[in-house]
Amino acid sequence: MRSISIFGATGSVGEQTFDLIQRAGGADAYRVVALTGGQNITRLADMARELRAEVAVCADASSLAELRDRLAGSGVETAAGPEAIAEAADRPADWVMSAIVGAAGLVPGFRALRHGATLALANKESLVTAGPLLLAEAAAHGATILPVDSEHSAIFQALTGEDIGAVERIILTASGGALRDWPLEALAKATVKEALAHPNWAMGQRITIDSASMFNKALEVIETREFFGVTPDQVEVIIHPESLIHSMVGFHDGAIMAHMGAPDMRHSIGYALNWPARDALPVARLDLAQVATLTFRAPEMARYPALRLAREVMARRGLAGAAFNAAKEIALDHFLAGGIGFMDMAGVVEDTLEALEPEMGRSNLPEALEDVVAMDHLARIRAGEIASQKARSR
Ligand code: NAD
Ligand code: MG
Repeated sequence: MRSISIFGATGSVGEQTFDLIQRAGGADAYRVVALTGGQNITRLADMARELRAEVAVCADASSLAELRDRLAGSGVETAAGPEAIAEAADRPADWVMSAIVGAAGLVPGFRALRHGATLALANKESLVTAGPLLLAEAAAHGATILPVDSEHSAIFQALTGEDIGAVERIILTASGGALRDWPLEALAKATVKEALAHPNWAMGQRITIDSASMFNKALEVIETREFFGVTPDQVEVIIHPESLIHSMVGFHDGAIMAHMGAPDMRHSIGYALNWPARDALPVARLDLAQVATLTFRAPEMARYPALRLAREVMARRGLAGAAFNAAKEIALDHFLAGGIGFMDMAGVVEDTLEALEPEMGRSNLPEALEDVVAMDHLARIRAGEIASQKARSR
């Protein structure tokens, strides 16, 4: 029986993973090792009972008593805190879903790779902050990383049976987010609620705002460069409002392979779960006559400064990805809390990158996970100061 763990089980990707596991027979079909969650203890406990997990771990020590109560008599072990989450990743499992949001997902993913697991990687932050280290860790332990981000799953599928040397360009599609048709001058006043109205995908709150600002696409551009080993100028972004083409690969002969399907994350999660097989999935089938047209347009750089910043991060590499991601997370916190405006987020990230330039060192590769974690902490502090300053001067 295949053993699995889900990190970030109670989130959007985690729930959809749970759904596929349940449909495939749940605890009768898989041996479930670890499930982890953040704030939603009731849901984590319910999932752990249902899947008869070995251990359920929550992020906060203050929630441990509640988790223990809810799982009393179930036979599921309980634990709490970041170290307990990392230890849960030390428990061998054949297939591990990395779906914690943010830099908190980095260490558990690394630890899972050490026992040679197949790591289904939704946590794009791992590749953005520590891509070369993550790939080296996987190679050292004979582990496999399968991308779960829909764009990267699409690219991975388009590359199956192809030689990466024959690739000319990788074209990431972007919906353009909730504010794509707003007049440019109105963006500064966009509220959280307005930025959350994503046209096509139902996702977690943070990634939905990141779609509107295209910080999500910026992370994905870097993720593409790191995971597929192409150069920055081989990675392009195109706005495709229908979100039916999930990304494309262009080859030297001029051919473009596009991956299409309904916008449903269970496609890429299921692909990673069943890989290398292609089993049936409960996703909607496209009626192309109904779809009728697919449209594309170039992203306006003034609307999406995050895309320009991604180019700078790729040119700098090293610890710039860690600083970029951390600053973006803090800027997002401040936007969500109402302290800074929608367009201020890019300003906070840009100023943080500039302020940390002297700390980034000379290496153009991150050398150790500890350096990445240290840069993450430093960038959070610096970005917090910069965001507070911006909030005061508004
Ligand atoms: P989410 O916010 O819905 O869920 C995140 C999960 O992580 C939850 O279980 C939450 O409790 C847990 N968590 C949050 N902070 C934590 C912490 N500090 N320590 C431990 N656990 C913590 O997020 P999501 O939308 O499911 O996204 C998860 C990851 O997948 C992100 O990296 C995101 O970029 C990526 N992703 C998501 C989608 C999507 O459709 N939602 C698509 C592509 C990629
Ligand atoms: Mg994506």
